[in-house]
Amino acid sequence: MNGSTSILIDYYLISVAVAKYVDYSIYANPAGSTGPVLIQNYIYDNPLTLPNFIDEINETAAYMELFANQFGPYPFADEKYGHCMAPIGGGMEHQTMTTQGFFEKTLTAHELAHQWWGNNVTCASWCDIWLNEGFASYSEYLMLAALYPGEQINHMNQVHQSVMNQPGGSVWVLDSLNEARIFSGRLSYDKGAGIIHSLRYLIQNDNLFFAALQDFQATFADSTATGLDFKNHVANFYNIDLDSYFEQWYFGEGFPTYQVKYNQVGNDLILEISNTASMPNVTPTFTNPLTLKLSRQGQSDTLVRFAINSNSELFIITDYGTLIGTIGIDPGNWLINGNAGVYADPTLSIKEHGLNHHLALLPYPNPSSDFIQILEQQELLSYELYAANGKLMQVGSLAPGQKIDVRTVKKGSYILQLMNANQMKTTKLVTIN
Ligand SMILES: [Zn+2]
Repeated sequence: MNGSTSILIDYYLISVAVAKYVDYSIYANPAGSTGPVLIQNYIYDNPLTLPNFIDEINETAAYMELFANQFGPYPFADEKYGHCMAPIGGGMEHQTMTTQGFFEKTLTAHELAHQWWGNNVTCASWCDIWLNEGFASYSEYLMLAALYPGEQINHMNQVHQSVMNQPGGSVWVLDSLNEARIFSGRLSYDKGAGIIHSLRYLIQNDNLFFAALQDFQATFADSTATGLDFKNHVANFYNIDLDSYFEQWYFGEGFPTYQVKYNQVGNDLILEISNTASMPNVTPTFTNPLTLKLSRQGQSDTLVRFAINSNSELFIITDYGTLIGTIGIDPGNWLINGNAGVYADPTLSIKEHGLNHHLALLPYPNPSSDFIQILEQQELLSYELYAANGKLMQVGSLAPGQKIDVRTVKKGSYILQLMNANQMKTTKLVTIN
């Protein structure tokens, strides 16, 4: 710290540790910092501890330089970074001085990334712990991809498998008093990391993807943000609508399992892509795009990105040629998804296909300043309206045609949960203006 800079600190990021330490200092040269940044390490004063960890500790400089390129300048460059050993099982990202029980590359990268995701920008409430743990967990992947290329593939596979161990659960934490849920490894860390990876797939442009993260970091520096703040900020930055993506993957539950059927008719290829949701009563449809790997005779493999709007979609690729080999579902592993297989179906034709659309249940108008009604509503619904910080603003029931009165609700973004008599839930984002 110097006289002209004030550094804010969250109450949970302060630490005091007492032991016999040796001080092992190194420096990093992250982009955006005026000079080298000190990385000061307090290591147990045992003859074997520093030699055991020194290579791992030295890597911290490369991680900091990588993250400064991806997230923006190291936020506490005027001060330092560092590690202090203490007998804990993992790490705790104390501001500018992470506590770690040992040194291992994904742990060290995770805690360092928290200096951006958690310490520079802090989740506004425990509902949005994703902004801390999802991004710190995704940073492990980013570090492996950049510095241990190849290892990130298995890493993301394990993340996806962990999420799919159970069918449900949202990244957003509704019960912010439930500590076990807030720090759920499966949901806040793994699913949190997985959906950032899929957001990157959605954007299809790494320069733009990271530029938005940097812009978010700069805008919310030294302050707090909700998941909706992040959604709104990057949606504006990308100039795309991310509502359904966040409704399904962040506020919603579960994941899709894809099945592909195909039929070659002359030179045309007919494809049916269907997806089954693991929690259909909460999130019945995932409408993110899906990439298939298709091979055809005489050509190299092609990756084709299909827009998905319902649980079953039919595509025809005219003059495709002759399909050979197997069709790959999400070959880049961008999505948390199950795979129900790829089948030849000689009966598949354009005509006999019945689309299986779920009711859209669209809040209208959206944004609204006075009343919101639900288009396509055919049955009695109950509703709950939550603020971005998880605070319940309104609760009530809604007959078809009835409207929600939001005249007394402050301007802003809200989460509207609709539920029918069979406990089927739908989450929609609404804006009050
Ligand atoms: Zn963490």
